Amino acid sequence: CGIIGYTGKGNAGKIMLDALELLEYRGYDSAGIALLDGGKTQIVKRAGRVKELRGLYEELKPAGQCGIGHTRWATHGGVSNENAHPHKFGKITLIHNGIIENYKELTEKYGLEGSLASETDSEVVAAVLEHFYTGDPYSAIRRTVLKLKGTFALAILFEDQPDKIFAVRNVSPIVAAVTEKGAMLSSDVAAIVPFTTDYFVVPEFHVICLSPQGIDMFDLSGDRAEVEWLKVDWDVSR
Ligand code: GLU
Repeated sequence: CGIIGYTGKGNAGKIMLDALELLEYRGYDSAGIALLDGGKTQIVKRAGRVKELRGLYEELKPAGQCGIGHTRWATHGGVSNENAHPHKFGKITLIHNGIIENYKELTEKYGLEGSLASETDSEVVAAVLEHFYTGDPYSAIRRTVLKLKGTFALAILFEDQPDKIFAVRNVSPIVAAVTEKGAMLSSDVAAIVPFTTDYFVVPEFHVICLSPQGIDMFDLSGDRAEVEWLKVDWDVSR
């Protein structure tokens, strides 16, 4: 139901947990984060509130300067720790807002029956990305997106692409922003206003890549696309 991503010099885990709390008003049943630390991905997720996720995070203390976080409103698969996002399949870790209508067809087409850890439509997208990934994230995302029917805001980590977050959307919203210390994305401006006033709305079917240095955007044919920056003009004191 809500997504967040952060890469930069700040404390990614803490920034994401704070941001997820700002998204709580949207309603959700589970929450989770994934952190990339060098070539290692660590996932902390569970059914329940962000407060409970924070408890688990403080227990496990995962390291990493780059990560993605999610609050889930279950549509496919019950409310459980396994069905909470992020989902990891091979090198791919992702979070998803929305509904993939053809996930059953994709499960069959790519022979995924028996290899999935959750009952969600979302994990199938991670498996299809893994199927297409041979070192070029843009190409894998493009080929995967062309197979999807439904609504999605996807934020993706590739285990061998340190410090980078990729994202793409259809219908479900994503905004992206640069901060003093890095780059962020979210489903909602509310989660980024404590950090920066400069943001943009990611156009549908455009792929963005966040790195600590900034944000690149390409359309689905692989051409670089121009970002239209906006400024938050409401009072953000809280
Ligand atoms: N369809 C996905 C699921 O049920 C994502 C739901 C959401 O947007 O939170 O896990």
